[in-house]
Amino acid sequence: MTDALQLDFFKRAAAKRPAMMTFADRGWNGRGEQIALFKCPRCGSRSSWITVASHEEELRGVPCPKCNKERAR
Ligand SMILES: [Zn+2]
Repeated sequence: MTDALQLDFFKRAAAKRPAMMTFADRGWNGRGEQIALFKCPRCGSRSSWITVASHEEELRGVPCPKCNKERAR
């Protein structure tokens, strides 16, 4: 596969669903709530600490604001 084809494939795959950040780290805030840190495998940016209600929310991840903004352009 050439680089051009790979890029094309990546673009099409990315257009189908929002770019998600994946779980990177967890902790608890001052109020004892569970918080998680997410990292984007695509652009490498990290989220801020986000309050999560459950482990499932961690696994699901959160949309990457940077990647999704770029796509909307
Ligand atoms: Zn991203």
